[in-house]
Amino acid sequence: MILIFLGPPGSGKGTQAKRIADQLNLPHIALGDILREEIREETEYGKKAKAFVEAGKLVPDEVTIEITKNRLLKSDCKNGLVLDGFPRSIMQADSLKEYLSGKDYKVIYFKVPLERIIERNAGRLSCSSCGSVFHEKFNPPKKDKICDRCGSELYKRKDDNEEVIRHRFKVYEESTSPVVAYYEKSGNLISINAAGSIDEVFESLIKSLGI
Ligand code: AMP
Repeated sequence: MILIFLGPPGSGKGTQAKRIADQLNLPHIALGDILREEIREETEYGKKAKAFVEAGKLVPDEVTIEITKNRLLKSDCKNGLVLDGFPRSIMQADSLKEYLSGKDYKVIYFKVPLERIIERNAGRLSCSSCGSVFHEKFNPPKKDKICDRCGSELYKRKDDNEEVIRHRFKVYEESTSPVVAYYEKSGNLISINAAGSIDEVFESLIKSLGI
């Protein structure tokens, strides 16, 4: 099964993607996590992506398309995957067309109002080691600033401040919302209300997927 998660930043798609990937034993491929890792390791991709990520802008398509193509070729993707944060532009969606052709895939669109987005991003705590995501108020870790899943230290992303969050939302509306319409036409789109709690959204997700 191939699941593609679409939604504005802070819609909770990363949290849900990780949970469902664990449950279905599929790889969770999060472009944002891959890019942050490339930046930390100062690779060529990382050098190209850094300024864009920190400003909340989209990293150029040629970079993200190449990274994603290489990742999807790895053997752990042969039984399916959960793709989170890609595609974010029509050009990226087109680059996936051939890969998806003839495969069983679903695109899940997380709908959530702007006020929730600011609130969710501003309190987010991320694990750089396993990619788990927590929230100071809505999903606090059991031990202060320590990841429940792998025990590493949690950090606040540089792009999780209000000014950059607003910019990321604008970028989403301009570049990524057309991707929602693109998959709607293909008949593979499932929309879910992502304004509820983590457990409520997960329940809708499971129901919508019929699993
Ligand atoms: P995320 O962790 O999904 O919120 O992504 C964080 C940042 O990484 C975004 O604001 C972009 O700068 C960059 N990014 C992630 N995925 C993509 C993508 N598919 N295309 C372009 N830039 C991306």
